[in-house]
Amino acid sequence: MAVTLGDDAAGSAEIRVDEDEALDFAVRLVSIRSVDEPGVSDEHEATELVLAKMREWGWRPELVEVVPGRSNIIVDVPGGGPSGPVLAFEGHLDVVTEGDASEWSQDPFGAAIVDGRLYGRGAADMKAGVVSMLYGVRALQQAGPFPGTIRILALVDEEGMMLGAKHAVSSGALEGVAGVIICEPEGDEVCPVSKGAIRLRIDLIGQMTHAAMPERGRNALPALGRILGMLGESERDLQARYGTHPHLGTTYVTPTVVVAGTPAQMNTISPRSSLWVDIRSIPGVDHDELIARIRREAVALAAADGVVVEVTVIDNRPPVDTSVDEPVVKCLVDAHTRVTGSVPAWGGVPGTTDGTIFTRDAMVPTVVYGPGGKWIAHQVDEFVEVEAIGRYARVYATAALSFLSGAC
Ligand SMILES: [Zn+2]
Repeated sequence: MAVTLGDDAAGSAEIRVDEDEALDFAVRLVSIRSVDEPGVSDEHEATELVLAKMREWGWRPELVEVVPGRSNIIVDVPGGGPSGPVLAFEGHLDVVTEGDASEWSQDPFGAAIVDGRLYGRGAADMKAGVVSMLYGVRALQQAGPFPGTIRILALVDEEGMMLGAKHAVSSGALEGVAGVIICEPEGDEVCPVSKGAIRLRIDLIGQMTHAAMPERGRNALPALGRILGMLGESERDLQARYGTHPHLGTTYVTPTVVVAGTPAQMNTISPRSSLWVDIRSIPGVDHDELIARIRREAVALAAADGVVVEVTVIDNRPPVDTSVDEPVVKCLVDAHTRVTGSVPAWGGVPGTTDGTIFTRDAMVPTVVYGPGGKWIAHQVDEFVEVEAIGRYARVYATAALSFLSGAC
């Protein structure tokens, strides 16, 4: 199917996506087990496949090593038309593990097509999105010259610590970029907002002693209990203060792991205990202020027992709150409307994406919109509707042309 753009965009280009080839490429990509799990994270086969396709099209991709054996792909596709801004599309090539394959009704890496759905780990999150962005940009390029430049980022380690996104920013890949479309699956919603996330480790250091003589040591466990209570209170405070976001829900402060003592030594006061906390925030919550408050209160609560507290920030990803008036958002909404005939719903990303890192570290406006259901990611029998791959490619191409033409 073709999309014809009117004079409000650049001329009247006709965008034709090669949907059969795109689906074939998606099948090959989903067949590759590019899992991100400790010790075996390896996207290189997927990276090679994408590189080969880009080179076949005459693109000049750059392979940028992030950590040994794991490399980002960055490529500029110049429009060949008048000078203009740079628009970026982003996708990641890693997937989460398939878990217990016997729970799947399809082979997680068989890439079977059944009743119009492509099944497999990563089908939705987010190899379909990668294929749509590649074939959308290819179709736009084939439709004729366009203004400005499109930069494509196919990154590693999104499912881990987002090393690929962090490296992309620190190596300058976001420099000069006026907007980024993150092609993660969001079930046809345009998502300018994403929740923030903080991961904390809280260590309590007391002094070991016999439980028969507790006065001779410093027990970290009662302090740990008070800190758990404090975290619950801070969650209630944040929820009362910032309320509920229409697309993101509310803020959570969730203790997830406690390590303390050992059952074999139940007559001994253990010298150390540790607590891990997962915080999910909505726009408005100031992460630095929240971390400082937790640190201050934890130190004070433990000091009563002579216990020392150390708070380590493992990761700090602030919420994303891109204005709906940003051209990249407006162009995307407009393109979705033109291609599908209906106005898209607004939504929010419940987790974080590589876009979170781009907004945090490069201060570039990001919006998340891609093929596949929002809730199917990381589940068994993950799938994407085959039809969505071509449709999203057309929306991406249409949005890019409008954005680069300054039409929004
Ligand atoms: Zn993803």
